[in-house]
Amino acid sequence: MVPGARLVVLGKQGAGKGTQCVRLSHHYVVPHVSTGDMLRAAVKQGTAVGQKAKDQMDRGELLGDDLIMEMISERLGESDVRARGFVLDGCPRTVAQAERLATILAPFELDLAIDIEVHTSQVLRRLAARRVCIDCGANYSLSAPPRVNWTCDVCSGEVVQREDDTEEAISRRLELYERQTAPLIEWYRARHQLETVPGTGSPDAVTRRMVKVIEERRDQKGGRLT
Ligand code: AMP
Repeated sequence: MVPGARLVVLGKQGAGKGTQCVRLSHHYVVPHVSTGDMLRAAVKQGTAVGQKAKDQMDRGELLGDDLIMEMISERLGESDVRARGFVLDGCPRTVAQAERLATILAPFELDLAIDIEVHTSQVLRRLAARRVCIDCGANYSLSAPPRVNWTCDVCSGEVVQREDDTEEAISRRLELYERQTAPLIEWYRARHQLETVPGTGSPDAVTRRMVKVIEERRDQKGGRLT
């Protein structure tokens, strides 16, 4: 049996978090929990959270810690997560969120936070070329489009540019990343829960690096992550 895992993936917007989290969730057979995907689904469904979130998301602003942590706490309490763990994508984004996440998980701990390192000039290029499925959130790009006419390979949804992938919103998100999210790298390092991997090269190469650091951590822990 494949042991589960409790993983957080960090990295600038466009570092490849979404793509890598989907791959890790398949590899370790754990749910991919993406706050961005959950919020986009809420916007699409027109829920109260979605209506509150849309404008801030389009501008590239961060939503409040309370709203995010309530949403994530509910998701992490579900049976699939409790049974196997999770790959958390897009959360925590502030030190306050990381502290609250640790409280939610107690008495368990996170196994590992993995930071995907990519230079800002490269993420700017990637974000400009990024396209996503409006239904399932699968990621594509101008250089790796879906097989048929911007129709999602996974669910046949329409593949478009994200509304927050405008130049203005991208620069705001990167600014907030440096100010609010980058300090998490040191926060997790101080707790001996951090590994970094270069985000350069093919998606396969990055996945291999991530699996390697996770397996090394598993070995150190005597074969189990969770
Ligand atoms: P993402 O798909 O992870 O880039 O998230 C898209 C947008 O959702 C972000 O730009 C924020 O507006 C919002 N968001 C997602 N996760 C969080 C979070 N952990 N804290 C605050 N805002 C978030």
